Amino acid sequence: MQTTVRAPIAFAGVGLHSGRNARLTIRPAGAEHGIWFKRTDIRLGDTMVPAIWDAVDRSPLCTRIRNAAGVEVQTIEHVMAALAGCGVHNALVEIDGPEVPILDGSAAPFVRGILSRGLRSLNAPVRALEVLEPVTVQTDNGWARLSPGQGLTMDFHISFADAAIGTQEKALNLSNGTFVRELSDSRTFCRRADVDAMRAQGLALGGTYDNAVVVEGDEVLSPGGLRHADEAVRHKMLDALGDLALAGRPIIGHYEGYKAGHAMTNLLLHALFRNPAAFRLVEVAGDARARLPGVGIQPEEIPAVA
Ligand SMILES: [Zn+2]
Repeated sequence: MQTTVRAPIAFAGVGLHSGRNARLTIRPAGAEHGIWFKRTDIRLGDTMVPAIWDAVDRSPLCTRIRNAAGVEVQTIEHVMAALAGCGVHNALVEIDGPEVPILDGSAAPFVRGILSRGLRSLNAPVRALEVLEPVTVQTDNGWARLSPGQGLTMDFHISFADAAIGTQEKALNLSNGTFVRELSDSRTFCRRADVDAMRAQGLALGGTYDNAVVVEGDEVLSPGGLRHADEAVRHKMLDALGDLALAGRPIIGHYEGYKAGHAMTNLLLHALFRNPAAFRLVEVAGDARARLPGVGIQPEEIPAVA
């Protein structure tokens, strides 16, 4: 059955890029509602922004959605990953500013909040998007592909000049709470060399060594070091789950990302929806249900992080 959160869950903090503080509340919603954001700081006009692939204003560093009235919410990917990874299909996410709080740079605080309140089952079956044919997008930077598969599985490859990241590869089956256990606490990362460039463009204004892993050469500058030796590729997989959630429903298929990022995953969804033969909607029942992310996780399975 579809789910929503059992009770409102509130978060507050600074936005990574805007540097602006915002309060965000995940509220229950009915079946077939999907995930919507609502800007509560804007009084006039349409303040509802759908968390859906064709509302994305593609930008390389974060995922930003915008409605027809031009109302935006940015850096939605980590809370979207938390919702998808916990199996929340319907929610109204109220926010009183333009950017989702970065919190600790991972999805763990959102996951902890969601699982502490628990989920409520709704009286409607889950309808998933089953991939029937491979769809690939390629750019100068890398490529991303969705192909048929059981449940949601993911392969990711990254390669950075800085030895602290280097080349990392990971493959995961995201069924049965894998997201919560393996990916949710991995933090966003960047190179020290990129910080000044981003700041000059008015980005990363809320970034600190406490809400992002900053690396320089073979050194991790953030205090406490890494949470996982391959934290960077885990975070890229977390981002990919959040960006794939903008399909509007769980995906049954195999995702591969080779140096992929937010913009490429969104291009991939555009390519998928352009080809009606590449997917179908299926009601998820029986054993197939256990292969969705978020089934069967318990709050005590969230990695204990500082
Ligand atoms: Zn991220």
